[in-house]
Amino acid sequence: MKVLNFTAVEILPSLLNKTKTQTIRPSQKPSDNYYYDRKMIDKQPRFKVGEEVRLEWKSRSSPKDSWFCSHCGMVSEVATATKGMNFGGCPQPNMKTIPAYAFPKILGYGKITEAFELNSDEWMEDAEADKLAERDGFKDFRAMWEWFDRHYDLKTPRKFWVYRFEWVK
Ligand SMILES: [Zn+2]
Repeated sequence: MKVLNFTAVEILPSLLNKTKTQTIRPSQKPSDNYYYDRKMIDKQPRFKVGEEVRLEWKSRSSPKDSWFCSHCGMVSEVATATKGMNFGGCPQPNMKTIPAYAFPKILGYGKITEAFELNSDEWMEDAEADKLAERDGFKDFRAMWEWFDRHYDLKTPRKFWVYRFEWVK
């Protein structure tokens, strides 16, 4: 089963309460000679409609049985549920002592319901811009735009795959 990986703390609450039903991923990558030719190469969609996926938090940067802080998404310094949690670096004081606020690496399972391409310059014209952002787990369109601009620099419009999914468990 393919993994749908998440790392953005901004949308963490929507993953934990399973209201997030969409993710937006770049559909182009810089060419091998991007520094010289400034070309972007189209990427095939990673997921197909009907496909089941495993949703994970910080899939690539943490060990398999990791637990994380629900407040900041930080990995516990002590790795297992039975040994207890230690979020020593968490800015939220309560979280250091209340392991109930931890969540495991596997967030759940989903099924892809829609997959389509969308240019970032079309997001604004979308009459349902806030709705688009809400599905993605952001509080509104502005918050979503700022996050994507920070990560992908939207001064030049960019192409993305929009994947929508339903939680199956
Ligand atoms: Zn924390």
